[in-house]
Amino acid sequence: MSKGPGDLVRPEVLALKAYHVTPAHGRVKLDAMENPYRLPPELARAMGERLAQVAVNRYPDPTAPGVKRRLREAMGVGDGLEVVLGNGSDELIQMISLALARPGAVVLAPEPSFVMYRMSALVAGMRFEGVPLAADFSLDERALHAALVAHRPALTWLAFPNNPTGNLFSREAILRVVEASPGLVVVDEAYYPFSAGATLMDEVGRHPNLVLLRTVSKLGLAGLRLGLAAGPSDWMAEFEKLRPPYNVNSLSAAAAELLLDRREALDRQAEAIVVERGRLEAALASLPGAHPLPSAANFVLVRVPDAPRAMGVLEERGILVRNLHGSHPLLAHCLRLTVGTPDENAKLIEALASALAPHHA
Ligand code: PMP
Repeated sequence: MSKGPGDLVRPEVLALKAYHVTPAHGRVKLDAMENPYRLPPELARAMGERLAQVAVNRYPDPTAPGVKRRLREAMGVGDGLEVVLGNGSDELIQMISLALARPGAVVLAPEPSFVMYRMSALVAGMRFEGVPLAADFSLDERALHAALVAHRPALTWLAFPNNPTGNLFSREAILRVVEASPGLVVVDEAYYPFSAGATLMDEVGRHPNLVLLRTVSKLGLAGLRLGLAAGPSDWMAEFEKLRPPYNVNSLSAAAAELLLDRREALDRQAEAIVVERGRLEAALASLPGAHPLPSAANFVLVRVPDAPRAMGVLEERGILVRNLHGSHPLLAHCLRLTVGTPDENAKLIEALASALAPHHA
């Protein structure tokens, strides 16, 4: 008995790989679906002044009424719904998984989708069942409904728009899953700022088993770590029990209050990202052999003839994107490109054009 982790840590944790973030080191960072724009200087200054007033000697107010009120307003949360705050939606994904981890409970999600659904299920000791998307990355409704019958999942995740594909599933198909599901369905709207208003928020509260996730991360506040779950009060009361009481720190709370009150700048950045996304999609479509998937998010999935070769050229030019080749059969030779600034996107396109040129050595 070595008393080391190999003997003592749960086998499913030993088998996991930690979430990997590639160091950027001055490279053009287009791998993490961040907003490429910083805060306007006067807003950053106002934030600094506000943060200087925070009493960091005290624990934060765990009920965070100021943040909750502004998030409800910014995200259009209906009056009859409750909200729970997370340290990013990542933490909410973990809390929801833990709450539903009865012995033998199953978690279902389409694949490919956000990797934390699987990881949080395994960490919670649940069985994860992935249901492949259709070849066009829409929901394979027949397979999904068959899986609902076969596995009776306690929890089903649907990202709307989906990561890493960027497309929106059919709203009607999602509602049919909610209706047919014996368990909770969580619709994760992390990319809502870029989805032209597509949301299921209006459906939350009409179904006993539907909960929605949002985050401020993609809006340009990824560093704050702030997400929210919105749903019927009975579900939120249970999740609240699993929330570490001070999970949203007082600096993040103070910054979020200020920035959500003055979020026109962030909204304008999101609009600029959507415009750039259109240009990026068009430029990609004109490259020989590149097939971009129309996106409703702040990234574009593109299939190229040879993803490892394209990654090599991008690497040489100091551009960081996500290589999805090898992560799922549906993602063969696919790259996920976060929409950057016009300058960053121009560099990206130029590098890809070079990688895809037939005579590239
Ligand atoms: N949901 C989805 C679908 C995501 O892609 C991400 C971020 N990659 C998250 C949730 C996590 O976001 P947050 O920064 O709020 O933890």
